[in-house]
Amino acid sequence: MTNTPAKAGLLGIPYDENSSFCRGPAKAPASIRSTLQGGSLNSGCENGVNLKDSPQWLDLGDLAITGANDFVREIESGCDKLLGQGMRLLTLGGDHSISYPIMRAYARHYPKLNILHLDAHYDLYDSFKGNRLSNACPFARIMEKNLCSRLVQLGIRTLNQHQVEQAQRFKVEMVEMRHWQTGHLPEFDGPVYLSLDIDALDPAFAPGVSHREPGGFSTREVINLIHNLKVPLVGADLVEFNPDKDIDGITAQLCAKLVKEIAGKMLNSL
Ligand code: MN
Ligand code: MN
Repeated sequence: MTNTPAKAGLLGIPYDENSSFCRGPAKAPASIRSTLQGGSLNSGCENGVNLKDSPQWLDLGDLAITGANDFVREIESGCDKLLGQGMRLLTLGGDHSISYPIMRAYARHYPKLNILHLDAHYDLYDSFKGNRLSNACPFARIMEKNLCSRLVQLGIRTLNQHQVEQAQRFKVEMVEMRHWQTGHLPEFDGPVYLSLDIDALDPAFAPGVSHREPGGFSTREVINLIHNLKVPLVGADLVEFNPDKDIDGITAQLCAKLVKEIAGKMLNSL
């Protein structure tokens, strides 16, 4: 690792023990990698970056989680080490609970970070089914600890009073899906971290998720949001893809495509 010219890398975190509904996302990193390597896709990104040819891009393998109670510490320290080497991380979950420890690491290296969070759900529960580290809670923990300067949520289409109150309490900027105008992306004045829950997309495009919520983004809309960011993309996670719920590899293929477009953006904004 110390001698690599790589500036951005793919890191699997096959961990789904905080899934509030059903397990399966731990299988996502292997499924996405085998699709990326399966021969049906080339390694070119739409912006002209070619991942295979780029010495700045590296597959970092999986981060092993050894003890369920220590997942926060383990993910935080694993990411911290890589960020300390100047890497931008594209992390493959796993359920959405992994974003909290990832952001704990990012906050040390990027004190003024903006988070762009695409999701059908707010993920702002103070606690869900008795678990404060549930995949329904990561952004409540992130905001309590001031791990970002701004949280912008798009794709939201699951209103409930508790989470509306949480969003107000933490001053979250949220555009509900019912009000979203195609292409609208808030302006950012500094680096962005993208947290992409695959259920932000409509289940017609992404059936392989634990919580199917119709009425979401198209694949093209998400790709365009990524392309249209005008500030450096310094990190991203792609979470909640559940291969057990997929249909004929459609969602695996979608995730592989999104990996390419996110990586292309990261490398293009170094
Ligand atoms: Mn979600
Ligand atoms: Mn989520």
